[in-house]
Amino acid sequence: MCGIVAYVGNRNCKNILINGLKRLEYRGYDSAGIALLQGADRKAGSPTNIEISIIKEEGKIRALEREAKELKIDGNCGIGHTRWATHGEPTQTNAHPHLDCSGRIAVVHNGIIENYAELREELKKEGHKFISETDTEVLPHLLEKYYNGDLLFAMQKVLKKIKGSGAIVAISAEHPGELIGARIASPLIVGISKNENFLASDMPAVLEHTRNFVVINDFETVRITKDKVEIFGKEGKLIERESFKVNWNIASAEKGGYEDFMLKEIFEQPYGVKETMRGRLIDGKLNFDELNLSIEQVKNLKKVHIIACGTSYHTALIGKQIIEKWAKIPVEIDFSSEYRYRDPIVEDNYLFVAITQSGETIDTLAAIREAKLKGAKIVAITNVVGSTVARESDSVIYTHAGPEIGVCATKTFTAQIMVMYLMGLYFARVKEHISQSKCQKIIEELEIIPNKIQNILNKADEIARIADATYKFTCFLFIGRIYSLPAALEGALKLKEISYIHAEGYPAGEMKHGPIALTDTKTVVVGIMPIDSVYEKILSNIQEVKARKAAIFSIITEGDENTKKYADYVFHIPKTIEELYAILTIVPLQLYSYYIAKHLGRNVDQPRNLAKSVTVE
Ligand code: GLU
Repeated sequence: MCGIVAYVGNRNCKNILINGLKRLEYRGYDSAGIALLQGADRKAGSPTNIEISIIKEEGKIRALEREAKELKIDGNCGIGHTRWATHGEPTQTNAHPHLDCSGRIAVVHNGIIENYAELREELKKEGHKFISETDTEVLPHLLEKYYNGDLLFAMQKVLKKIKGSGAIVAISAEHPGELIGARIASPLIVGISKNENFLASDMPAVLEHTRNFVVINDFETVRITKDKVEIFGKEGKLIERESFKVNWNIASAEKGGYEDFMLKEIFEQPYGVKETMRGRLIDGKLNFDELNLSIEQVKNLKKVHIIACGTSYHTALIGKQIIEKWAKIPVEIDFSSEYRYRDPIVEDNYLFVAITQSGETIDTLAAIREAKLKGAKIVAITNVVGSTVARESDSVIYTHAGPEIGVCATKTFTAQIMVMYLMGLYFARVKEHISQSKCQKIIEELEIIPNKIQNILNKADEIARIADATYKFTCFLFIGRIYSLPAALEGALKLKEISYIHAEGYPAGEMKHGPIALTDTKTVVVGIMPIDSVYEKILSNIQEVKARKAAIFSIITEGDENTKKYADYVFHIPKTIEELYAILTIVPLQLYSYYIAKHLGRNVDQPRNLAKSVTVE
């Protein structure tokens, strides 16, 4: 999930691109680059000896900006990109734009090309030379292959060849006044102005130049010159589309109109979860080559040991239940900060899984080093390509949630849970502990999880009203059982992190062993109680706290009429398979803590005393 900005017009655009990228830096920032052409005034198709000038740099945009100042050349047509690596480390070579063999076509891309490996092999056989490790690099080579004098036509052919997601923008030295764009599932907008036009992945990139926009939809392509915007549908037919005007300022535009990054990121979860499935669930089949484990190695697995901190630890709890239930492999879990100091045992046929959003969590890194010394094989699950944990592990499963700016983890959590489901299912299939038909049923359900999360998000107002009614309470107890216990722990953690109210997550069955003493008229008990195998049990627990005058807020399954008799507030989530409730129940709880914190006037994106990536012990 990167940022793209492109320009064609009468002005020199080097600085327009750099400034646009700076505005998009919140979308990803591991490397950046621009490509420039001079010749927006030339007639399309007329022969040209113009060349593409490219600069790219690892790190923040500042590095690119320094380089750009040195560059004597400018251009009035160009593309820029700030990268959030998904394939290949964040190096200068892997940074975009990428070129074809002739160096006459340059491409920037936001998203993932699922079938890039296959395409790359095909293209290599045809003589194309690759220099980066990215999935993106197949795009300029495919454009080169299909180019017959019309870059738009070539782009339309490319769209038919690729699987995955992408906002793509290309320029060619043969058509120096043209930007060619395409979109599959990643945002792309056109900014329209007088004698100049823009393409960008988000409005803030160009808001200082125009407030007039047109949105490009999936499978559409677009050809843009300085005075013309032509949009083409999937079948290549020209489409008429009205532009619209926005009156956002730049800050609110960066947040996509949301008040805070946290809220934006909560709402991005359907996309993050879908991106994390991408390439791992292909046509209903599981693909987990990136685990780097042979079938034999998986078959022989005797134990999985998951370590993590904070929210990632709650993912580990879900992972334990899923892997044990589906794949029948015993799973041990540990806080990273505990593991490293307690002389843990590493056995044969043992797999060590480390979960960390940032890939830089110091305790997790130390635990990995400890396990490695003892001979363990390490799999990392992280959101950041090229992070230290990713580099030090034997294999890496990336969550593709995109950059998370809010300090408290939201969309990276649901993306991690998705990895746990996919991994559990994969182990279960290889070990033949789950039938093909059961596996298929789970896969079908996983595929519609993003829609179910969306369904919850569409009812965010209901949660806001419950927060409005309860934010003055002083003690919150989140209770759940089995698959709902990690959500209870995570719900309490979210509330503590951003509202600073005392909250605890507890196994509902443990209430009588202590926490029930806390309940009084100032307490809210949040019961996470979808209809599952322990529903009746937790219903009794709810009645016990109700009798002690706590206010009850229950997360329940659509159609559950029973809980309403006892709960003061209820929120319905869609029905799913028992094991999958964990990825749904957390969404209303994230919203709940968000709205309570807002009522209390907290800075939800940067809560006090907390940092996004914990690089000190
Ligand atoms: N998949 C591409 C890469 O890793 C694009 C990532 C992005 O959206 O920034 O280079």
